[in-house]
Amino acid sequence: MDAAAKTIRMIPISAKPAGPRPHRFMPVNQQRSLAGRYPLWVKALSWCAFVWAFAGWLNETWFYRFDSPLWLNRYTEYAIILVFGLWRIRAEKNPYTRKRLLLLVGNVTVLWWTIPWLFPFIEPYAGYLGTIPVFPSLHTPGTLTFFLVLGAVFLFGRRVICGWNCPCVAIREVVGFPFRQADHVPRGEWPWRLRHLKWIWFGLYLGAMWAITRPANTTTTGFLGFFGMMVGLPYFITFLLTPWIGNRGYCRFLCPYGATFGLLNRVGLFRIDYDAKSCIECGLCVKVCDMNIPVWEMGKSHGGQVSTTECMGCGRCVTECPTKSLSFYDIRNRLTHSCHQDRDHLRAANDWRRASVRWRAVGYLLVMGATLAGAWYYATQVGTLSELPSRMGALCGLPITVW
Ligand code: SF4
Ligand code: SF4
Ligand code: SF4
Repeated sequence: MDAAAKTIRMIPISAKPAGPRPHRFMPVNQQRSLAGRYPLWVKALSWCAFVWAFAGWLNETWFYRFDSPLWLNRYTEYAIILVFGLWRIRAEKNPYTRKRLLLLVGNVTVLWWTIPWLFPFIEPYAGYLGTIPVFPSLHTPGTLTFFLVLGAVFLFGRRVICGWNCPCVAIREVVGFPFRQADHVPRGEWPWRLRHLKWIWFGLYLGAMWAITRPANTTTTGFLGFFGMMVGLPYFITFLLTPWIGNRGYCRFLCPYGATFGLLNRVGLFRIDYDAKSCIECGLCVKVCDMNIPVWEMGKSHGGQVSTTECMGCGRCVTECPTKSLSFYDIRNRLTHSCHQDRDHLRAANDWRRASVRWRAVGYLLVMGATLAGAWYYATQVGTLSELPSRMGALCGLPITVW
C-alpha cells in the first residue's frame, strides 16, 4: 500500500441518496453521476441481462447448444449493450458522460460486434499461433492494435480504452447502472486495499505474454487456456455479483489489462490536477468515482496531482466538481498551454447544441463507416489478410505466424 493511501481518510457515503424514488425508468433530467434509486424490477431486469450475456459466453465456450446463435453466443453481450445503451444514453444528463457512452456503445457495436461477426479476420500478430480471428485485439499482446492502444494510453491515459472502448465497462455502465448507488459500491479502506489483488492476474498476464513468444506446445497452449479461463470466468461471474460488489468489480480488483494500462497512466502524460485552494472538500468526487479513488485527498497529499494506476478517466469527478478544482491533464495540455480541461471545458466541449460537437459526431460516423467498409473489402474482395502477418513478419524479422 503506498504511503498516500495510508493517510487517506475515506468519506462515509450515505446509504440512501436524497431525491424522489422513481416508479419507472429514471426519467431524463433526473439522472446524475451518482445514480438514483431504482425499483426492484429494473434491477432484476438488469441482473437477468447480465445472466444472459454470461450464458452466451458459456454456450460458445462449453455447451455448444443451438449452434451458438446470436441470441446465445459471445456476441449476445454486445447486442445487450446496444439495447441498454440506448436507454442509458437517452437518460444521461452529463454531456461529457453522454458523449462517452455514445462512443462506448458505438465502438463496441462496430469494432467488437459487427466486424468480427460479419467480416472476421486476424490482425498482424507477433508470436503465438492464433486459432481464431483476433479483431479487435485491444487486449491481446503482440497484436497491432494492442501496441497502438499502448501508445494512445501513454498520451491520453487509460481512458482511451477503459473509459471509451471496452465491452466490460460498456455493459457495466449501461446494464449495471442501477447498481452504481453508494450502497452497492464497496468503499472505504479495505476495498481500496483489495485493488492490489489484480497484480496476481497481472503476473498471469506476463506469463501469457511469455507463452505467446514461445513455439506452440502443450505447456504454452495449456497455460494460455488456463489464463483465458482465469480472465474469462471472473469477467462474467462479477456480472452476477454486481448487486454486492458494484458495477466495476472486475476492473477494480482483477483485470490484468487494466493493470497494464494503469501502469502507463503512471508513467505517461495523463493525470488529474487538483487545486487545494478552491476545493471545499465536499467529497462529491469520491462519491461519483466507481473505482473508489480518494480523489481530493490523494490530490492534496500528492502536491496537487491525482496520478494513479486506478483512474480509468471516466471524467465524472472532474465534470461534477462544483468548484472546478479538478481538471484533466494530457498531451493536449502539453501542446496547448492555454488548454484547461476542467468541468466547464469538458461540459461545454461536448454540448450537443454546439455545431462543432455535431460535426465531430459526423466525423466519427464517417470513420466508423469507413472502418466497416474496409473490413468488408478485405473479407470479400481481398480475402488474403491472413497472409499479411507473415508478410509483415518477414519484413520486420519477427516470429509472426498465422493460423
Ligand atoms: S480495467 Fe480491464 S475490463 Fe475494465 S475497462 Fe479496463 S481493460 Fe476493460
Ligand atoms: S468535488 Fe471538488 S470541491 Fe468537492 S472535494 Fe472533490 S475536488 Fe473538492
Ligand atoms: S478519479 Fe475521476 S476520472 Fe478517474 S475513475 Fe474516478 S471519477 Fe473517473
